[in-house]
Order: sequence, then structure tokens, then C-alpha cells
Amino acid sequence: MHYGSGNYEAFARPRKPKNVDQKSAYIVGSGLAALSAACFLVRDGQMDGERIHILEKEALAGGACDGYDYDNIGYVMRGGREMDNHFEVMWDLMRDIPSIETEGVSVLDEYYWLNKDDPNYSLMRATKERGKDGETNGKFNLSDAASLQILKLFFTPDEKLYNKKITDIFDDEVLNSNFWLYWRTMFAFENWHSALEMKLYLKRYVHHVGGLPDFKALRFTKYNQYESMILPMIKYLEKHNVKFLYDHHVIDVKFDINTEKKVAKQIIYKNKDGEQTIDLTEDDLLFITHGGCVENSTMGSQDKPASFKPELKAGGGWDLWKRIAAQDKAFGNPDKFCSDPELTNWMSATVTTHDDKITPYIQKICQRNPHSGSVVTGGIVTVRDSSWLLSWTYNRQPQFRAQKDNELVGWIYGLFTDKKGDYIKKTMRECTGKEICMEWLYHLGVPEDQIEELATNSANTVPVMMPYITAFFMPREKGDRPLVVPEGSANFAFLGQFAETPRDTIFTTEYSMRTGMEAVYTLLDIERAVPEVWGSTYDIRDLLNATYAIRDGKKLTELNPELLAKSPIPVPMLLMKLAETDVMKLLKDSKLL
Ligand SMILES: Cc1cc2nc3c(=O)[nH]c(=O)nc-3n(C[C@H](O)[C@H](O)[C@H](O)COP(=O)(O)OP(=O)(O)OC[C@H]3O[C@@H](n4cnc5c(N)ncnc54)[C@H](O)[C@@H]3O)c2cc1C
Repeated sequence: MHYGSGNYEAFARPRKPKNVDQKSAYIVGSGLAALSAACFLVRDGQMDGERIHILEKEALAGGACDGYDYDNIGYVMRGGREMDNHFEVMWDLMRDIPSIETEGVSVLDEYYWLNKDDPNYSLMRATKERGKDGETNGKFNLSDAASLQILKLFFTPDEKLYNKKITDIFDDEVLNSNFWLYWRTMFAFENWHSALEMKLYLKRYVHHVGGLPDFKALRFTKYNQYESMILPMIKYLEKHNVKFLYDHHVIDVKFDINTEKKVAKQIIYKNKDGEQTIDLTEDDLLFITHGGCVENSTMGSQDKPASFKPELKAGGGWDLWKRIAAQDKAFGNPDKFCSDPELTNWMSATVTTHDDKITPYIQKICQRNPHSGSVVTGGIVTVRDSSWLLSWTYNRQPQFRAQKDNELVGWIYGLFTDKKGDYIKKTMRECTGKEICMEWLYHLGVPEDQIEELATNSANTVPVMMPYITAFFMPREKGDRPLVVPEGSANFAFLGQFAETPRDTIFTTEYSMRTGMEAVYTLLDIERAVPEVWGSTYDIRDLLNATYAIRDGKKLTELNPELLAKSPIPVPMLLMKLAETDVMKLLKDSKLL
């Protein structure tokens, strides 16, 4: 497997890999990583779909990317996906996955046209004092000292950040800024999370820094991601006769390991007929999604809280990883990620409104008509003075194809599920859907005497608790996650958010899909390049534009005089030296001078 960039290999088609007709594939899980692996096996590996088996413990495919209307409960989407134009692997694949909405176009075309015609941006990023403007004013509000802390992190080698927390690197200068409010709520980082991951995110998305305050950096699918991404992939795979085996809980995988090579020999799984095994040869390729951000997630309802049940059990993603990791050091260290669910949980809730009594409060904040079919909030709105640190969003409506015209389906999430609410004096995890809705309506500015009536009769709210939703953000070091294809592997690979691939950042659709592509390209030795992670961190233009944006448009000459005085070369002399070079042109183009 090798990486490439540019058009040359992006448009080339690989030839059929040697001996692929005598190989078969077993894929554990049916999330985006697993479905992508299956699609790459079919499209680029040219493996006969009949030889590909997907073993999924749930009754439906899609993993974290859900979006269903549950009988007697209502619409639920555990998350909404903020996405990027530079999800290189995703677009490489989605250009060949037919849309299920429009005949003859790809999922990429559909997404591209939608976001071109109706670009995303927010008109109110945050609120305070029950629905008033949060006055972030599109600014990062970072002092020079805070900017320096961010700059220092950007250039700190990974090794120096192993096992470090964000609070080991940033102090209140950063943590009290708008920058941190935007960042922690947009990406769901907590202060105790990994400084290394924070750095990787900064580098990965440096081209989007200027688009963070109002979310013009983001793009969204038309419907929830189960309908807009997962269903088209399933259709594509079914058309190629790939076998989906639901309610198959993989309990363990047995490996034969010696100093020269590692071979996956047997899958042990349980289904309705009890415990079963599949013996593997080196021609049987095994792809394992291990761990999982939505493992142990529970759903409540309008009148029931979502229970917090982090206990790990056989047949789940974490237990499977623990059993695998016990067999070889190269298979990672799951305990780093799944040992303290108090540090890795948060909750979301899906709110469906049935009439137009709540709509004016939404509209007042987002400043758009939620029923127009176009962008509504344009990304999350954060309630900056909420003790649960609530954020909420309404994406383009409808979010479900079957949604009725009078319904609006939106999403709320809270980062602190163990804190009492500001109106409902309970922790978020103790609350029913209706109570979460009441807390949200309070922060929208609904008069107190109407809050309960609206939450009861004008909305249905379904809470979801996810004990391991940010497990991948726990402080870590090299070796804690197994490589996508561990050294010496003869026939297996790891997929998803807990497999290690260089430079990309977890908690994204792209990361999962990338692991799927890299796994298939390595095990089948596919000749074409895997697109490398977008290289903006090496592009001086992006770095200068980000510097300008993060300093809220201040020129370099406006730096704190004490800092300027510390420059090894006096600034006027430096500017004179640069005056006749292209560096000066670049600085002027980026408005830094
Ligand atoms: C709330 C939320 C918000 C998100 N926001 C964003 C965002 O804004 N932008 C973005 O790009 N991404 C976002 N993501 C991330 C993205 O959706 C996920 O990273 C991605 O979908 C994960 O895919 P995966 O295949 O790696 O893992 P999963 O989707 O977790 O799939 C793993 C699958 O394996 C199955 N499985 C596990 N163990 C076993 C076993 N032992 N036997 C059989 N089957 C098993 C599981 O049931 C599951 O179906 C968000 C995710 C969530 C949940």
C-alpha cells in the first residue's frame, strides 16, 4: 500500500489483484469502516461479492451512523455528521456509489450539488441568558499568550504529547476563549482529553480555521447519515451479492503467532443457534472493527431516561478487542480507552416537533425559516451558559425521508451528563426525553409557564446515552492502537476508530473509511495509491490564512510589543529584508501585513 495525491492515481483503475478469485473475506461489524472495506474489495479488489461476509451483532447495518423511526418511540439519530470537502477517501469511494435518491448520479454528485446550491453557515453560533445572542461575534478572542500556546502545540512532536491531557498544554488563556468554546463543542473535546489528538486535529483542519466561528467550513448530507450514506452503500453491496449476517456476535478471534508471521485462524461467534466457529486459511481475509464509540449506548424515550450501562460483555466490540489484545502486544491496549466511562460519555437527544409552537423560538435564534428545506441553524448552536453545556442543531428538513411536513427533527447534545440542569434540577442522565426538552426550551427562551406544555404536547424527545462516545480521545501513546495491518499479518486487518493510521483524526467518517481502504489495499496488494490525508498542514498559504484568522484579523505588526521586542531580529529590519521577496507577497495575500 502506498499513498498518493493529485489526479494521476486518483483516476487510474487498478488491475485485478493476483489470486483474488481464490480468496474470501470476513468482516466484523457493518459500520462505515466495514462497509467501506467491502466496497473497496468489490470495486478495486474485484472480489466476487458472494465471497464477502459481513458479521454484525445488531439487527441493522451502519453502526454509529444511525437514523431510524422506532415504533412507539419516535425518530432517533445519535449524531449528525459535520463533514469536510477534503475527506479524500470518502469522496474517492462515494463517486462510485449510486445515489438512492436520484437515478444516474453518485452520492458524491448529490452531496456536491446540494452543498454548492445551499452552502452551510451559521447566523448564531452561541446563545446566553435564555435565547439571547451569545456575542461570540465571529471572533476567536485569543490573547497573544493563548495564540502562542496553540502555535507551540502545533509544532510539538507527537512523542512529547504521549499520555498528556489538553490541560497539560493549555491554561485558562486558551480554555476561557471563544476558540475553546467553538472547538470543544464542535468536536466534543473535554479538557481532560488527549493533547496529541488536539494537535492532530489542529494540523488536519488547519485549512478550515477561518471557517470555524460560523461553520462555513462544514458540509452536510441531505438526510440523516443512515439514509444518505449507509443505505446507498448497502444497496451497492447487495447488488454485488455481498452477504450480510445480522445478529452475529463475534466473541473472539484466535491467531497463530510466531516471530515471522501472524495468522488469523478462527472466528468464534454467537447467533440464534448458539456458539459457532469459522476456520480461516491465509486466503480468508479477516477485517475486524474493534472497540466502538457507540458500544453500550442505550435509548430512553419521551417518558424514560436512557440508562447508563457501561459494563462490557462478551460479543461486544470492547470485550472482543480485549480478548484479541491479550494475544499479542501489537494488537493494542484497549484499557487505555474503555476503563473510565465517566470520562468518555455524553448524551444526545432527538427532538421531533409536531406543530409550530416551538418553531418561532428556533427561528428567532437561527434567523431562518426551519421549514424552508434549506440550511437552518447551519451547525450547532451552543448554549454557553448551560451547566450541561448544551448544543443543538436543526439541519435541512426533512432529515428523514418519511418525515411529515409539519414535523421538524433536530438534535441536542450535552457534554456534562453528571451536572444538574439550570431549569430541571437533575443530571442529564437522570432525565426523560421530555425533561431534556424542557431544559432546552428554557434555554431557547420559552416562557416558564409554557415550557412543560410545549415539551409534552408539541414535541417528542428521545435521549441516548453513549458511555464510550469519546473513548478515542483518551490520552494515549504509540502502540495503544493496533496498526491497520499489524507487522507480520498474513490475512487480517483492524478497522475503524481504534486502528492506527498516520496523520488522520478520529471521530470522523473519513477516518473509518480510510482504515477500510488501507486494509483492503494492503491485504490485496492493490496497485493504485490510497489518497493521502489532505496536506494543508504543509501548505504555507493555509498556515498563513489560519494565523490571520486565529488572531481575529490582526496584523503581525499588532503583536504585543513585549513579544515583538523578543524577536531575535528587530521587526523593522526583518520587514526590510522580506520586502523584495515572495514571502512579503504571501504575507500580504494572507492580510498578515
Ligand atoms: C454522536 C456522533 C456524532 C458524530 N459526529 C461526527 C461528525 O460530526 N463528523 C464525522 O465525520 N463523524 C462523526 N461521527 C463519527 C462517525 O459517525 C463514526 O466515526 C463512524 O460512523 C464509525 O464507523 P466505524 O465503522 O468505525 O465504527 P462503528 O460505526 O462503531 O461500527 C462498528 C460496528 O461493529 C459492530 N460490532 C462491534 N463489535 C462487534 C462484534 N463483537 N461482533 C459483531 N459486530 C460487532 C457494531 O455493532 C457496529 O455496527 C459521529 C459519531 C457519533 C456517534
